[in-house]
Amino acid sequence: MDQPEPTDVVVIGMGPGGEYAAGALAEAGLHVTAVESRLVGGECPYYGCIPSKMMIRAANLIAETRRVPGLAGTSTVTPDWSPVALRIREEATDYWNDKKAADRFIGKGGHLVRGSGTITAPGQVTVRAEEGSSGEGSTGEGSTGEGSTGEGSSGAGRRVFQARRGIVIATGTEPAIPPIEGLAGTPYWTNRDIVQAEQVPESLIVLGGGAIGAEFAQVFARFGAAVTVVEALPRLLSFEEPEASELIERIFAAEGIIVHTNSPAERVSHDGTRFTVHLGDTTVTGERLLVATGRRAGLAALGVAAADLDASAGSIPTDGWMRAADGVWALGDVTGKGAFTHMSMYQAGIVVRDILGQGGEQADYRAVPRVTFTDPEIGSVGQTEGQARAAGLRVRTGMTQVPASSRGWIHKAGNDGFIKVVEDAGRSVLVGASSAGPYGGEVLSALQVAVRAEVPVATLRNMPYAFPTFHRAIEDALANLGSS
Ligand SMILES: Cc1cc2nc3c(=O)[nH]c(=O)nc-3n(C[C@H](O)[C@H](O)[C@H](O)COP(=O)(O)OP(=O)(O)OC[C@H]3O[C@@H](n4cnc5c(N)ncnc54)[C@H](O)[C@@H]3O)c2cc1C
Repeated sequence: MDQPEPTDVVVIGMGPGGEYAAGALAEAGLHVTAVESRLVGGECPYYGCIPSKMMIRAANLIAETRRVPGLAGTSTVTPDWSPVALRIREEATDYWNDKKAADRFIGKGGHLVRGSGTITAPGQVTVRAEEGSSGEGSTGEGSTGEGSTGEGSSGAGRRVFQARRGIVIATGTEPAIPPIEGLAGTPYWTNRDIVQAEQVPESLIVLGGGAIGAEFAQVFARFGAAVTVVEALPRLLSFEEPEASELIERIFAAEGIIVHTNSPAERVSHDGTRFTVHLGDTTVTGERLLVATGRRAGLAALGVAAADLDASAGSIPTDGWMRAADGVWALGDVTGKGAFTHMSMYQAGIVVRDILGQGGEQADYRAVPRVTFTDPEIGSVGQTEGQARAAGLRVRTGMTQVPASSRGWIHKAGNDGFIKVVEDAGRSVLVGASSAGPYGGEVLSALQVAVRAEVPVATLRNMPYAFPTFHRAIEDALANLGSS
């Protein structure tokens, strides 16, 4: 048995939340051992939010340029993927090398250990070197910062740490691959591959019509790929209001993206050059296949049972201080409270305050914002109308269309969108809202404050909204609050 190395806190997983918590605790003077098996920074900067939003920025420029006729003259645009691929390499991911992030953490006094961490006893984490840990994705670009900063565990094969204060589980999620016949043997892409694409495929099948699938579908269509989205559920963006799904399906149709809803993929094959996806009576073919069917947290491999947690669960339940068990905190995607970078960072702040004994507010999930960065953007907060009704509230809703607002009318091309507010009529406060449209994610901010602070609807109605902003349409949605 290895002699355990003492430390104050072990943070397993250095995604946005783990990195923030580990850095803040180290800066506060604790001995922090951070364990990371891939890249310090996690999914968001290397495979998620940042590269995908760089793609979206570029794709939206193409769409905006195509909107010039009728408003500002004539335009032609020739999409070119190479600046996008280069920007992702040079500006976003440093060619998937985390040296800067690792150095930043070490500069705060933290101890970074490369390898895969497993909880092996209360307060104890065993770190094993990852076999072939540089192999990311199938496009062959995946240097995971090997040889960059950090203490390896490969010398002795493994190291054992005993935490005096506790363990923070921040291991995030990975792409969930559904058990579809034939899929496992094919060279499909996940988000970790598509962000490394150096060329736009001639055609792309996107399996999964959630936020990630929808964002990539629109990007690649705007860059010239023939895109087909396959969704098992009756609508795209099924977690959002039905009006959001209708809007995105209409926009996708107008942009030539083929959508199959109610269409679970039954079988997948690849003949060496093309994928075929069988959907009941229909088949769909394409050069590339992106699997975007959700995320999974691998709790069994993490050894959570050794910390008295359910290894078969899909996520780790926590209390308001993010405590999962005695001396164990969890944060980020792994808590199942919303797979967003802002959620992970928010929870990390609570963990830090709790470990440092600083008190403050506990976690509050009433006004969690989420944005699908399609064009139009779909922003939403709190409960949908369906969720509010299912919760037994007396619900009133108000809707308005962005093109009917002054700013929407001025904007003209690309003005599709709506604002929908969901009121708990019993308390006369908003419990949810959606803002779809140009800058829908930005307009959401006012609605988030209204939901979080439980601002009375009467107050929201009785204030001037700047003319002619997109957010002024909130006033129209409030005016349209109907009877339940
Ligand atoms: C394509 C895409 C686009 C996205 N866009 C957005 C967006 O626009 N806005 C937004 O808010 N969110 C977005 N997200 C979600 C966001 O990336 C995640 O919610 C966020 O990264 C979760 O952070 P986390 O701290 O939970 O951990 P993660 O980022 O998942 O990182 C966890 C880390 O733990 C490491 N790890 C796991 N197990 C172990 C172990 N046993 N030992 C050592 N290390 C381990 C992993 O290697 C990883 O580095 C997007 C995600 C994807 C895939």
